Amino acid sequence: MSKYTGPDCRLCRREGCKLFLKGERCVTPKCAIEKRPVVPGQHGLLRRKDKEYGIQLREKQKVKRAYGVSEKQFHNMYLEAVRQKGVTGDNLLTMLERRLDNVVYRMGIGSSRSEARQIVSHRHITVNAKPVNIASYKVDKGDVIAIKENKRALEMFKSLKGQKPVMPAWLEFSGDKLTGKVKELPQRSDIDLNIQENLIIELYSK
Ligand code: SF4
Repeated sequence: MSKYTGPDCRLCRREGCKLFLKGERCVTPKCAIEKRPVVPGQHGLLRRKDKEYGIQLREKQKVKRAYGVSEKQFHNMYLEAVRQKGVTGDNLLTMLERRLDNVVYRMGIGSSRSEARQIVSHRHITVNAKPVNIASYKVDKGDVIAIKENKRALEMFKSLKGQKPVMPAWLEFSGDKLTGKVKELPQRSDIDLNIQENLIIELYSK
C-alpha cells in the first residue's frame, strides 16, 4: 500500500482523537479535533457504530498513525513482540517507544514524530557518537543521543539552547549540551497515549 500523503489532521479526525502529528499546533485551538471533531468525508456526521473487527482495526490504525509506521513495519514489530518474553501488547508499545525518531521527538528535539524522523534521516543525530539516520533504530539503556556537533548552529536547533523540555522519566536531555541519554528502557506505564493494545493483539491473532 502506498504512503499516505494527505493532511495529517484528517488522520486524527478519522481516529477520533489527537495523534499529535503537527507539533505545537496540536495544543492550540486551531487543532482540527477541537474545531471539527467528526469523521472526515461526506458521511462524517452520520453516526456509525463499529463492530468488533472495526473497533480492533481502528485501534491498530491509531497506534500505527501516531508513530508513523507502515503496515509492514507494524506487523513485523508485532511478530517480534510475540517472540519476546512478557506481555505481547507491552512489548509492542515499548518497541515503538524505543524507535530513534520517537526518542528524538520525546526529547523535544523535533516538535512532532514526523519532524523528528526528518531530523534523523538528514543525519543530524548521533547515537553513542556515531551518526545514525535510521528512524526505526531501536535505542538501548545507556545510549547517548546528541545533535551532531557541526549541525548545532542550524536555525532549527537554536531554540533548544538552555531549554529543559518536559519528557518521560526514562529519558533526559540537556539543552545546554544538546545531548540526551536513555536512562532506562521504557515501560508500558511511561506511554501516555490512550491505547488499548489488547484490541490490536486480538486483531492480529485472528
Ligand atoms: Fe491531530 Fe495535531 Fe491536527 Fe489536532 S492539530 S488534528 S492533534 S494533527
